[in-house]
Amino acid sequence: MPFEALVGHRRVTQLLARAIARDTLPPTLLFAGPAGVGKWKVALATAQALNCLSPVRGPEPAEPAEPGTRHPAPGTRSPALPIDACGACRACERIARGLHVDVPVVTPDDKASIKIDVIRDVLSRTSYRPFEGRRRVVLIREAEALEPQAQNALLKSLEEPPPSTVFILTTSVPGALLPTVRSRAMMLRFGRLPADEVAAALVRDHDLGDAEARALAALADGSIGQALALATADVAELRELALLLLQQTAGRADAQGRLQVAAAVLGGPAKKERAREDLAMVFRLTASMLRDIEVLNSGAEPRLLANPIVAGDLQALARHFASDRARDAFGAVDRALFALERNAGPKVVAEWLALQL
Ligand SMILES: [Zn+2]
Repeated sequence: MPFEALVGHRRVTQLLARAIARDTLPPTLLFAGPAGVGKWKVALATAQALNCLSPVRGPEPAEPAEPGTRHPAPGTRSPALPIDACGACRACERIARGLHVDVPVVTPDDKASIKIDVIRDVLSRTSYRPFEGRRRVVLIREAEALEPQAQNALLKSLEEPPPSTVFILTTSVPGALLPTVRSRAMMLRFGRLPADEVAAALVRDHDLGDAEARALAALADGSIGQALALATADVAELRELALLLLQQTAGRADAQGRLQVAAAVLGGPAKKERAREDLAMVFRLTASMLRDIEVLNSGAEPRLLANPIVAGDLQALARHFASDRARDAFGAVDRALFALERNAGPKVVAEWLALQL
């Protein structure tokens, strides 16, 4: 998919397109940012723009556009990018399918690691000029999976880049790379996407309905990948649990009652602990309902709710979370999510949150 067809990350794609047009692209790029925001798609688009057989050229913009600049509707071309792939030629098509001989793709194996043999094999191919493309582009996905020996093997090539070769590493954990590797790469940071861009991508690229896309985007924390994971999860069940958490803590229940609801949210003593992602989703839904409660308490219209499906329940909860309580509770949920993301134990976090609300 060419740059122009991608959702978001306009500043990054403009920078890449300018560097490609001026032939000043650094030999090693590190795309760092949260999972599921589109780093890999931008990496593929970069490889396409470098090797497209009929690239689309536009005038060079004087200044980079503002971050968050909206994309044109699909099928229309904005002249903002100095160069972009056509997306349809043989080279573009092969790169998109991971079959282009000059664009080798390295991904983690089923044990989530990238071993030195794999890197050696790819590097052995970079001593020749590209076969059919103009530039060889070595793409390494989830580069945090590179074993230390593999990183060291790679480092030699990064220090003395082979002719006509560009390395692009994508990662959500740049800190997992050796400082020597990081220092050789130009790091481009990818942010989370605004909810409306996530929703637009879901409708356009994944055939979701408008209402469903907006509901998922509101919970997806700026990640299309997370929104898609949600689309297949049983959100209804998780929503019930989030509501239960608020209902059981609303009346200032005692500690024992609160620990009971934490156990229910975790899946109960008889069940295996709810998967970390499911628990995080219950918390996100809880946060989203607390926002709705603030909306209701401020006297705004119920049509503005993110969870209209439980509007009646939220209305009943609203008086319990009057004044600052909803905001304080929202802060507690936010801290719980932060702890979960940093590998705190789900049970500890769920119990802590149930006692805080
Ligand atoms: Zn093309």
